Amino acid sequence: MFKGLSDRISQSLDRVKGRGRLTEDNIRQTLREIRMALLEADVALPVVKDFIEHVRERAVGQEVLKSLTPGQALVKVVNDEMVRVMGEAHDGLNLHGKPPVVILMAGLQGAGKTTSTAKLARYLMESEKKKVAVVSTDVRRPAAIEQLETLAGDIGAVFYRAESGTEPRRIAEQGLEHARRQHADVLIVDTAGRLHVDADLMQEVRDIHAAVEPLETLFVVDAMTGQDAARSAAAFGEALPLTGVVLTKADGDARGGAALSVRQVTGKPIKFMGVGEKTDALEPFHPDRVASRILG
Ligand code: GDP
Repeated sequence: MFKGLSDRISQSLDRVKGRGRLTEDNIRQTLREIRMALLEADVALPVVKDFIEHVRERAVGQEVLKSLTPGQALVKVVNDEMVRVMGEAHDGLNLHGKPPVVILMAGLQGAGKTTSTAKLARYLMESEKKKVAVVSTDVRRPAAIEQLETLAGDIGAVFYRAESGTEPRRIAEQGLEHARRQHADVLIVDTAGRLHVDADLMQEVRDIHAAVEPLETLFVVDAMTGQDAARSAAAFGEALPLTGVVLTKADGDARGGAALSVRQVTGKPIKFMGVGEKTDALEPFHPDRVASRILG
């Protein structure tokens, strides 16, 4: 996972791991290499700075230099810091409300919102035994609505189709009424994206949010993007009361910048991670497991 980042950090830590003694110079060198690896993985700059600062503070203290196995102590500090920036423990979804509980999906076009809507529906149906309905409010892209309808059919989720010409906000409201009539436990609302953040898009998704009052508002972000992800995350975080993040495309050759940045930028936990195109390729996000995969 996040191969480039993983290879570089592991190589750097391998050089110090087995050593019985470490000098401050060794630590400085390792920190320099880790810093470069994070920058190359396109981690947001404030996150890199903060990461290195935290590791440095602990590494030059008693904990590492005075340890009997300083190399391993340093690896542990780096691991802990990775877990910290990604959010410590796994954060699940809050579904404690009067059903149907609403989950709103927001993000840029191509981030993986529609796919993630179907994946999340499937996950909730299979793992949590919920009855799930989905609705798409992407009126500018009829193909996106059809894509969700097909996926809903594949997984057996309730799908609501509005009459053409209905406004996005109204579609969401009708979708909620439909979900209620169908006795669904959860309604997932997919929204339109744009290639870039713009005022119209933000207003549209805010209107939808106000209309259906979601318990979860998830920002969907592509792991292949690094600092761009951090920027769009910040913009969505200002416009909407986000409750979490879905990190998509963590399979393949994602560099990992988004994974390490979005928690700090939005202050919200990554709740799920997409690891493929199929509807079963969704995993709950566990910072400690992801850190272990990165550190090999
Ligand atoms: P939307 O515009 O945000 O709704 O994005 P889509 O859901 O249509 O996804 C855009 C593209 O990304 C599609 O080709 C998806 O198959 C692909 N995709 C979405 N999530 C993942 C993932 O976790 N892994 C991979 N490899 N591809 C994904």
